[in-house]
Amino acid sequence: MISFLDLKEQYHSISKEIELAINNVLEQGQFILGQNVETFENEFANYCGAKYGIGVGSGTEALHLALLVSGVKPSDEVITVPNTAISTALIISHVNAIPVFVDIDPETFLLDPSKIEKRLTKKTKAIIPVHLYGHPADMDPILEIAERYKLAVIEDACQAHGAEYKGKKVGSLGDFGCFSFYPTKNLGAYGDGGMIVTNDEEKARELRMLRNYGRIDRYRCKTKGFNSRLDEIQAAILRVKLKMLDRWNESRGRLAGLYSNLLRNSKVGVPIEKPWAKHVFHLYVVKSSERDKLKNYLQSKEVETLIHFPIPIHLQDSYKCLGYKIHDFPICENLCKEILSLPLYPELTEDKINLIVSLISDGRWKV
Ligand SMILES: *Cc1c(COP(=O)(O)O)cnc(C)c1O
Repeated sequence: MISFLDLKEQYHSISKEIELAINNVLEQGQFILGQNVETFENEFANYCGAKYGIGVGSGTEALHLALLVSGVKPSDEVITVPNTAISTALIISHVNAIPVFVDIDPETFLLDPSKIEKRLTKKTKAIIPVHLYGHPADMDPILEIAERYKLAVIEDACQAHGAEYKGKKVGSLGDFGCFSFYPTKNLGAYGDGGMIVTNDEEKARELRMLRNYGRIDRYRCKTKGFNSRLDEIQAAILRVKLKMLDRWNESRGRLAGLYSNLLRNSKVGVPIEKPWAKHVFHLYVVKSSERDKLKNYLQSKEVETLIHFPIPIHLQDSYKCLGYKIHDFPICENLCKEILSLPLYPELTEDKINLIVSLISDGRWKV
């Protein structure tokens, strides 16, 4: 059996350091908003090339709080894509704003900047580009439109820790960069966690308040905040893992290159990497018009695959209220039928990739 992902292998390679880090937290007895969170916030912001980092409870919460401090009000509109984790739309709804979807670029599967302006209204207040699968969205034209119409830009970088756009790390390009440390992400905790990075000192202060009940000190509360904090144990774990992130991303890139090279003459489409992009391959996603046959065949040969994501958000039951229909976003909808995520993680062996590729290349799944 080749599993889609194996988190235990990575843990075993760093278990001594992890156990030491967890033990230190237990011995110190400080579990919420202590030294590990503060240090990790600085280390991760620094890694992203941003001034401030605010550790929160999850990637979803990072997006939620960033949207709140962007000044998005009830019934405002926020631009994003229909092919993303449901969280990206949920947080727009949870501030009582309206998600407005834009179709994607057929080559990169990411927000198509040339389609944004047609969707803008007087109520549009923000754009959330998603660096899906680890490939950065085309940020320059997005930032240019945002500047012209005075819109906030919140990067959903939950799948793209360490990815670069024109030599700059994602997360540092818009007003806010939002990251998830869900265990399966390129930088994953052993539980939930997230972070917002920003260069705006005032907003950083507001975010710190919001994640902690709206408090400015022990007894005084300035706004109606939340309980959404990265905890000390997760921060201590993430500090150990951050040191490994570049090496792990390199390994993902090398294995993705191997897949693409071996699949060059096969019948499946392989992911592209734009000249201006550094892709960190959170997922390795291929394309086939007979995706379901391929998936079933690989399953029968004990190769586990997944689909990210089979149902676009505008066609989810929970978003019927927006009134979208089939064919509203044809590029995205077609893609949802064709994409398949193959196993990819830093510790995956070349032997396993060779085996997966030989199964795809033997073409028997097509009959
Ligand atoms: C994982 C993910 C999220 C949500 O992160 P959580 O930590 O699970 O809340 C949001 N957007 C994208 C694109 C993601 O991949």
